[in-house]
Amino acid sequence: QLDMAKYFSFLVGQEVKPTDKVVIYAKNYFEKIGAVIAATSKEVLQNYIVMQTIRNDLRMVPAPLHVVRDTFGNGMGWDYSSRDGSACIQRTLERLKFATAAMFAQDRFMAKDRAEIEDLIKNIKKSFEITLPNMEWMDDATKAAALEKVGLMLSQIGYPDWITDVDKLDAYYANVDITLNEFANTINLGRAAFQNNVKYYGLPVDRNRWRAVDNPTLAGAYNEENQNVLVLFVGILQEPFYGYHYPKALLYGMIGSLISQIFVHGFDEIGHKYNGIGQSVDWWTQATAAAYDEKAQCYLDQYNNITVRGGKTQVNGEFTLGENIADNGAVVIAYNAYRLYREMGGKDETLPGLDLSSNQLFFLGYTQNWCARVTDDFMKVILMYDYHSPNVVRGEVPLMNSKRFAQTFKCRKGSRMNPEERCQMWPTF
Ligand SMILES: [Zn+2]
Repeated sequence: QLDMAKYFSFLVGQEVKPTDKVVIYAKNYFEKIGAVIAATSKEVLQNYIVMQTIRNDLRMVPAPLHVVRDTFGNGMGWDYSSRDGSACIQRTLERLKFATAAMFAQDRFMAKDRAEIEDLIKNIKKSFEITLPNMEWMDDATKAAALEKVGLMLSQIGYPDWITDVDKLDAYYANVDITLNEFANTINLGRAAFQNNVKYYGLPVDRNRWRAVDNPTLAGAYNEENQNVLVLFVGILQEPFYGYHYPKALLYGMIGSLISQIFVHGFDEIGHKYNGIGQSVDWWTQATAAAYDEKAQCYLDQYNNITVRGGKTQVNGEFTLGENIADNGAVVIAYNAYRLYREMGGKDETLPGLDLSSNQLFFLGYTQNWCARVTDDFMKVILMYDYHSPNVVRGEVPLMNSKRFAQTFKCRKGSRMNPEERCQMWPTF
């Protein structure tokens, strides 16, 4: 129905043969889209495409549409009315992400910061290697494969190097005219970004190359499973998540547990489908997969019984399962990494004015990551669409599952934070 080779050739700007291999993330979509297009009038298709384009950036719509935009936006808890310039900054960050990231990074991410994060990742990996022998759900063959995968894992920290080279940055934006027409700017920048990306079509995969969709100015981090790379944007390597002057317990509890969260995905129900260089190769044995499912059941039941907003709404334990397990893994791996740092002779200090030990500070940092103010309406949206649990749950439940937390804070046995029954996929030292 759809001539895919012709379609891709047009997109890429060079010939894509029907026999060429391409990775398609949404296979079902492409299998069915031909029939949908054939059965839909051109008018509806055109409206759909225009609507999708507008929907991507509601801030650009002209005045008569503002009522629609604001009604929708208010329901979602968004605010387009900001007059303090933050909306303007936000839009510049989105449109000119590499140029702004370069300026931001020069000011806010120094060589010593990079060294600190590299050290942290090294200890997270080491902590995982030491934790591995005690992972009862993995059999020996799977453990060996996991060890190989962690050895091949790369990380991209902050931003791509080339953006600090003015000539390269100019070349990247060479074909873009920035005018006073924001809509035209958006289209032109999108096109340039696309062209900069498709020029790599047909070339071998370079696992060190940053992806075109990444915006380093965002407070984001993720595990690029199909390359086995941890990606950490300079936007998240900032306060409150990270500060060079932080006590190490906070460093490991805060940015350390965020990095550990994406790290453990490499070894969970998603990560087992990709090998050390990101190829689609399943390295779990059947026995390991079955043992994982059994352990996962505990989290499924536990989170299904959690309510938020005074019992009014419930977490969907099945929908959020993978992320819940990763949250629990994160606190364990980050804690183990912190203990490892200390055992290797690493120094630390506590915070003046707070009567907390280093271990207590670690857990405080962990949970502070998830502080947020959320409206009731937005909470409903989160529970419906976010495959992460709400922040309040992410900050608390993994600590209920942590024996170390209960020991550290001397929680009474059987109390809320020291329950008799715990779920434990990832073992603590
Ligand atoms: Zn995650």
